[in-house]
Amino acid sequence: MTAATAALRTAPPFASVAASAAAAVPVAAAGPAPLLQVEGVSLEYRTPERVVRATHRVSFDVHAAERFVLLGPSGCGKSTLLKAVAGFIPPVEGEVRLDGRAVRGPGPDRIVVFQEFDQLPPWKTVKQNVMFPLLASRSLGRKEAEARALHWLDRVGLAKFAGVHPHQLSGGMKQRVAIARALAMQPRVLLMDEPFAALDALTRRRMQEELLALWEEVRFTLLFVTHSIEEALVVGSRIALLSPHPGRMRAEINSHAFGLASQGGTDFQAAAQRIHRLLFEHEPQATETAA
Ligand code: ADP
Ligand code: MG
Repeated sequence: MTAATAALRTAPPFASVAASAAAAVPVAAAGPAPLLQVEGVSLEYRTPERVVRATHRVSFDVHAAERFVLLGPSGCGKSTLLKAVAGFIPPVEGEVRLDGRAVRGPGPDRIVVFQEFDQLPPWKTVKQNVMFPLLASRSLGRKEAEARALHWLDRVGLAKFAGVHPHQLSGGMKQRVAIARALAMQPRVLLMDEPFAALDALTRRRMQEELLALWEEVRFTLLFVTHSIEEALVVGSRIALLSPHPGRMRAEINSHAFGLASQGGTDFQAAAQRIHRLLFEHEPQATETAA
C-alpha cells in the first residue's frame, strides 16, 4: 500500500466505512444495516483449459439510497461482480447478501441495465417491453402492469413512444426504456453495467443528468459500473476502486460532493487525478498471487 492509499484509508470517509462494516456483524449495529453486502467475494471462470480469476476477495457494503460505483480498468472484473450480485455467477469464496440474506440466484429484487442496445426484445413495443418483467414475475395483473409501465415511461420522457418498436428509437432512448423497465420492477438495488458507454458524449452527459434527476425523485439504491473516472465522480456518492485483473479493492472514495455541475472545476480535477494515481500507480500489486 502506498502512502497515498494509506492516507485515504484513514481519512474520515474511510473511518466511517470501516466502522459501519465492523458494526454490520454484531447484532447491535449502530446505523441501519447495509442493504447489500459483498464480503470477500472471489469469482472465477472455468474453461476446459484453465481457470480465470476475475475478482479476488472483494468486499464492500451498499446502503439504501446510495449511488455506489465500481470503477476500474477494462477486464478487472466489474461486470463479473455485477453478475454475482445479480445472482448469475456464484462466488468461489465469500458471499453476497441482500437484506442480510445470502444471494443464491437471480431475483426481481435485483435488476440489471446493460450497456448493449439490444437488451430489449425487438418484436415487443416499448410499452410491452416495460410490462413484460412485471407480468413474467407475476408481481402485477395486466391492467396494473400497463399503468405502471406508462408511469415509468412518462418519468423517462418516453410516454409518446409507448407504441413504437425498439428499432425506431435512438441508443439513448433505448437505454431510457431499459431504465424504465428496471425501475418499474421496484428492485431493492438497480444494477447498471456501463449503461452509457456506447453513447456519444453529449447523449451520455444527458443520460447521466437524467439518471441523477430520477434518483433525486425516487431515491433508489444504485450499483453502477464504469471505467470512466469522470462518470464515477458524477454519478456516484461513493466509489470503490478496483485494481487491474484480477480485481481487488484498492480504495473507497467519498464522491457525494461531485456532480455534473462540478465537472471541470479544480476540486473535481484534483479528485480525478487522485483516483487515477490510486488506480494505476502501483500496478505490480495486481500480479501478486493470493496468500
Ligand atoms: P470488466 O467488466 O471489468 O471489463 P469482466 O468482468 O468482463 O471485466 O472480466 C473479468 C475477467 O474475466 C477478464 O479477464 C475477462 O477476460 C474474464 N472473463 C470474462 N468473461 C469470461 C468468460 N465467459 N469466460 C472466461 N473468462 C471470462
Ligand atoms: Mg464489463
